[in-house]
Amino acid sequence: MQNLPALLLFCGVVCSAYPVDRAAEDENNNMELTQQYLENYYNLGKDVKPFVRRRDSGPVVEKIREMQKFLGLEVTGKVDSDTLAMMRRPRCGVPDVGDFTTFPGMPKWRKTHLTYRIMNYTPDLPRDAVDSAIEKALNVWKEVTPLTFSRTDEGEADIKISFAVRDHGDFNPFDGPGNVLGHAYPPGPGIYGDAHFDDDEQWTSDTSGTNLFLVAAHELGHSLGLFHSADPSALMYPVYNVLADLARFHLSQDDVNGIQSLYGGPPSDSSNDPVVPTESVPPGPGTPAACDPTLSFDAISTLRGEFLFFKDRHFWRKSLRTLEPGFYLISSFWPSLPSGLDAAYEETSKDIVFIFKGNQFWAMRGTEVQAGYPKGIHTLGFPPTVKKIDAAVFDKEKKKTYFFVGDKYWRFDEKRQSMEPGFPKQIAEDFPGVDSKVDAAFEAFGFYYFFNGSSQLEFDPNAKKVTHVLKSNSWLNC
Ligand SMILES: [Zn+2]
Ligand SMILES: [Zn+2]
Repeated sequence: MQNLPALLLFCGVVCSAYPVDRAAEDENNNMELTQQYLENYYNLGKDVKPFVRRRDSGPVVEKIREMQKFLGLEVTGKVDSDTLAMMRRPRCGVPDVGDFTTFPGMPKWRKTHLTYRIMNYTPDLPRDAVDSAIEKALNVWKEVTPLTFSRTDEGEADIKISFAVRDHGDFNPFDGPGNVLGHAYPPGPGIYGDAHFDDDEQWTSDTSGTNLFLVAAHELGHSLGLFHSADPSALMYPVYNVLADLARFHLSQDDVNGIQSLYGGPPSDSSNDPVVPTESVPPGPGTPAACDPTLSFDAISTLRGEFLFFKDRHFWRKSLRTLEPGFYLISSFWPSLPSGLDAAYEETSKDIVFIFKGNQFWAMRGTEVQAGYPKGIHTLGFPPTVKKIDAAVFDKEKKKTYFFVGDKYWRFDEKRQSMEPGFPKQIAEDFPGVDSKVDAAFEAFGFYYFFNGSSQLEFDPNAKKVTHVLKSNSWLNC
């Protein structure tokens, strides 16, 4: 056995000297791939003989039909080119049909507060980018359930997250670059609930490699007890679905139904509920149209996991769990606010949204304006020459808020409640690529999104560069 690699090498040299029937070789490879795929993901017994060509019945053909049906392919029972292409796409290592392990997994957690621990890090990304991707991935599920998560850096945790290559001690070895990206175990003690990521993939924060947030959100769905979905628009569809822009990420109704069938919906306690909407307004004459290619925004803020896009007297409210944004009058949420806002940001640790217009700003918790507001913007430490703010964005990690005014920006320390010394600075210097005035800004998935007129820049604050140029209304599914 020890001579095997050398023998193979030898064979490679010798065999290439002889003509090879390429078509027959491809056919064999395709049959092998199919057999493997069905064994791995469709519970095909290992003792079932490789299927015989030109037969249109038997266990393998039945399994091919089952696989085609699950993955949304045309059900032919044949290994056609679409089927081959699908089997070659990167995917989750958890089977679509049948048990993942020989032990029966428990279907759901019997508690709503879960702990997680990041056991090690991929060298592909800065540690805080990994932390942020995992936190965002858990938030996807937290938003639609009563589940809450806290991170621990030592000892036991319900969900242990690790990066590994090839054999990593759970009898489910990874397979090198491509194909299997990760796998996870259903709820339970020990290894149950854990999520493993194949570190032979190139993990990224954007979509240039394998996006960690997207794969983690899927794998953590398994950690919470979900199986694969046959709905190609679902996060729990087994094949990796690369999104051109992360702005389009949302759970499908199928994902929401699945997780809520296990845990129910989010608690209706008003302190962590999204603001209760009044009637959404029908778009009509005099109201801005979401998909107008020239659409720009006055201000944008997050609010308890949702996004608010302000325009004149209205705003769109976009949740990651729904495709269609809601459209509302500002006055239906906050009767005392003016229209035509300048800037807005959410200080998430205080659960407050700050809203700016002219030289005044308001603090809102949910729909309630906080006592003592509006205040003058100069109480924040702006010089008298600043008459209004263009945009604001809150950095959750550092607890600092960036204020954009013309071609300059200020940074406010939320902990000390004071403007930092050494500001203003030039936007273009510290945010290379963001050359024009900023109309609106917010943070999501660890990126800053800067809006100017009808265009939007996705900015990676770690890499300090623009990673995507998008239409302003890309968040509104246009
Ligand atoms: Zn999966
Ligand atoms: Zn594993």
